[in-house]
Amino acid sequence: MTRRLALAAARALAPLALVRLALVRVALVRVVLVPVALVSPVVAAEPDARVLAAVKAQEAPLRETLAGLVDVDTGTGFVPGLSRVEATLRARLEALGAEVEIRPAPTFGGNTLIGTLKGTGARKLMLLVHYDTVFGEGDAAKRPYTERDGRAYGPGVADAKGGIALILHTLAALKTLDFARFGTITVVFNPDEERGSRGSHDTIHAVAAEQDAVLSFEPSFADEAVDAATIATKGINYASLTVTGRSAHAGGAPEAGRNAVTELAHQILQLQDLGDPRKGTSLHWTVVAGGTKPNIIPDQARAEGDMRYFDEAEYDRVLAQGRRIAEAHRVPDTQVTFGLNKGRPPLPANPETRALGARAQAIYREIGGDLKLVEIGGGTDAAYAFQPASPGKPAVLESLGVVGGRYHSADEFAVLDSLTPRLYLATRLVMQLSEEAPAR
Ligand SMILES: [Zn+2]
Repeated sequence: MTRRLALAAARALAPLALVRLALVRVALVRVVLVPVALVSPVVAAEPDARVLAAVKAQEAPLRETLAGLVDVDTGTGFVPGLSRVEATLRARLEALGAEVEIRPAPTFGGNTLIGTLKGTGARKLMLLVHYDTVFGEGDAAKRPYTERDGRAYGPGVADAKGGIALILHTLAALKTLDFARFGTITVVFNPDEERGSRGSHDTIHAVAAEQDAVLSFEPSFADEAVDAATIATKGINYASLTVTGRSAHAGGAPEAGRNAVTELAHQILQLQDLGDPRKGTSLHWTVVAGGTKPNIIPDQARAEGDMRYFDEAEYDRVLAQGRRIAEAHRVPDTQVTFGLNKGRPPLPANPETRALGARAQAIYREIGGDLKLVEIGGGTDAAYAFQPASPGKPAVLESLGVVGGRYHSADEFAVLDSLTPRLYLATRLVMQLSEEAPAR
């Protein structure tokens, strides 16, 4: 999950292929309940005993893997740590039978690993998560991996090293089950998600375009310790306002000046309602600067804002509306520019993601689990895997990683009891998706 994990605001209901039984808000996250009868037999099936045994056998080794990953600092851009973990991941993937390709992620440093396993079937599946964290050099030594009271702690233990461990041990479980009826499984581990994946998102987007389904292993993003998968994430755009006026002596000749700060204040007030709660669009002005000395009428002022959205068309709407509104000045002879820079796109609600979510819920019910489906205000790499030009190919589902909470804080944790259910979920998902008829 990227920094500033702002959980969802309310948003309008889009027409969907599946009828929603009910909507339940858990804190700020919208939880979508899909009617059981539409997606699976009403009575939950029994667990697949062979799979359950195979994944239970992976739990202890998974915890060892997780400890090893957490105990190396991999803050975005901290290349010595990223390289160490990259070498470990490469060796692990190769030991599982994958061919591994390394692609540089130049913006912050580090590499994206692309591991490919070939099977006997036709379906192409991708397992995705990042191996960078928000934490600094030395944090792993200060707070090494620990387990207490049913939870694991340490930098990035849930976001997203738990997801990496789950991917590796899902592959290990499939191996012990002798399961190879997929066409290919492509594992993508990227080193810069916490800084917007600026050096890896093109790779993620291109590799994902080849797939039938993409499973992304960020942790659960519902309330703390609540078991959920994510079916929609917001995109982010960066808004800016710049005002140029004219400086003058504030005591001697104030009338000769054109106060850029006054104009900026006016613009912020008239541009504060560009959001559209029905569509889940928000725009908040969050940073301001202007002026230099108390006795000078300021000639420069600027503001920055944070826009979140689900609907791609909102970029054009907000930009056009913002520019039109900004034409009305309070201080004459000032120049005002309203801008909007694109950041991470959204993973919009879509029928294929919802169907994948419903499938995950049905698998969870086999082991007595209850998986929520949530839409969140933060953004993840699932949005880069999603292909707006061919929605649903691949189908993308997020938050198949561990259940946890307090991400990006020193108290970040993973729920140990979630490891076996999550391994079961990922393993069964890969098996079911492999055995489907090729899509369209
Ligand atoms: Zn993350």
